[in-house]
Amino acid sequence: MITAMHQELRSAVRELCQTFPDSYWRELDAKREYPSAFVRALTDAGYLAALIPEEYGGAGLGVTEASVVLEEINRSGGNAAACHAQMYTMGTLLRHGSERQKREFLPKIASGELRLQAFGVSEPTTGSDTTQLKTLAVRKDDKYVVRGQKVWISRAEYSDLLLLVVRTTPIEEVKKRTDGLSILLIDMRQAIGRGLTIRPIRTMMNHATTELFFDDLEVPVDTLVGEEGRGFRYLIDGLNAERILIAAECIGDGRWFVERASRYAQDRVVFSRPIGQNQGVQFPIARAYVNVEAADLMRFRAATLFDRGEACGAEANMAKLLAADASWEAANVAVQTYGGFGFAEEYDVERKFRETRLYQVAPISTNLILAYVAEHVLGLPRSY
Ligand SMILES: Cc1cc2nc3c(=O)[nH]c(=O)nc-3n(C[C@H](O)[C@H](O)[C@H](O)COP(=O)(O)OP(=O)(O)OC[C@H]3O[C@@H](n4cnc5c(N)ncnc54)[C@H](O)[C@@H]3O)c2cc1C
Repeated sequence: MITAMHQELRSAVRELCQTFPDSYWRELDAKREYPSAFVRALTDAGYLAALIPEEYGGAGLGVTEASVVLEEINRSGGNAAACHAQMYTMGTLLRHGSERQKREFLPKIASGELRLQAFGVSEPTTGSDTTQLKTLAVRKDDKYVVRGQKVWISRAEYSDLLLLVVRTTPIEEVKKRTDGLSILLIDMRQAIGRGLTIRPIRTMMNHATTELFFDDLEVPVDTLVGEEGRGFRYLIDGLNAERILIAAECIGDGRWFVERASRYAQDRVVFSRPIGQNQGVQFPIARAYVNVEAADLMRFRAATLFDRGEACGAEANMAKLLAADASWEAANVAVQTYGGFGFAEEYDVERKFRETRLYQVAPISTNLILAYVAEHVLGLPRSY
């Protein structure tokens, strides 16, 4: 499972990340600024093009390798959320886009000339109930007219392209609620101010997330990815990759928390001995480590199935749940181990704590994963 290539990749990403130390992320966090220099360096080194086939200028690697890249970013103390979407959104274009779209966009995404960092699914009134989403694209001659609203669309201000999920047939007119959804690849450089408005949302961590308003935005029909009405199927394919990659980020976070907590527990002397000599301090760190390692096995199992082109919905969901739980447990343990210093900005534990908390909720909340496992793996009645 751990190949020499993975080790090389890990070391190379780690080396790049070392040039962006804790202080870099801490200062950006305080100002809620996007890590442009880091994303540029990652792009220039070719890592964000890991999943783009070589014929389109990328590295032609799998989700397994891409997940190693993102894991190492988080393990180094950084936050891959600034750029992870480029990896999984690109897959939708690759698998379902036309040859023209692939030739036009993929080489430019690989070189960094174009950024595909924004993915628009969530809406304010429908939440996790994706098939109920209301943003509508109505065909008018050789255009689609888009009307609606999205929320939590991250990195929209730092992306040129937006992969947008819309309804092209109203839900009342389809047989199955999963029918009638479509995916548009929108060039935001031409859309802003002509029907698209982006409004930033400030959150508890530095995440560059936004609300998007579509007021009769006109886009050419050839922005459609794949066939009209089949967008839900395309979305599901991409979501498995997203879950695996984010699981890997959580693994990276978990390892960062365990390493920092272990180091601090060695160094901090109270009652004339290292606090880590107390079982009450060392056992929670050891347990967090065990859980991170266990979650990592599911992450690799899911990634291997994905890369073989096999069904991996259950494994991708379980990897995301286990890894998010393990990183959250490790985050709490790190804060507890640091005592008061766990709350001090200069130690970065509180920043990483806020960052990893997100993965209990996004890109899919824990309850929805459990509902998936209950229904699709265990055959229990659908609960919602
Ligand atoms: C910082 C951030 C960045 C994000 N980035 C993006 C992005 O780039 N693109 C994008 O499209 N979206 C993005 N999201 C949205 C994210 O995917 C959603 O927040 C997430 O899917 C949960 O949806 P919701 O917030 O609407 O919660 P809701 O669906 O309103 O759910 C609220 C709570 O109720 C629970 N719940 C709901 N229904 C059930 C049920 N049937 N059974 C049990 N529990 C239930 C949920 O588990 C959750 O805990 C982002 C969110 C955040 C916070």
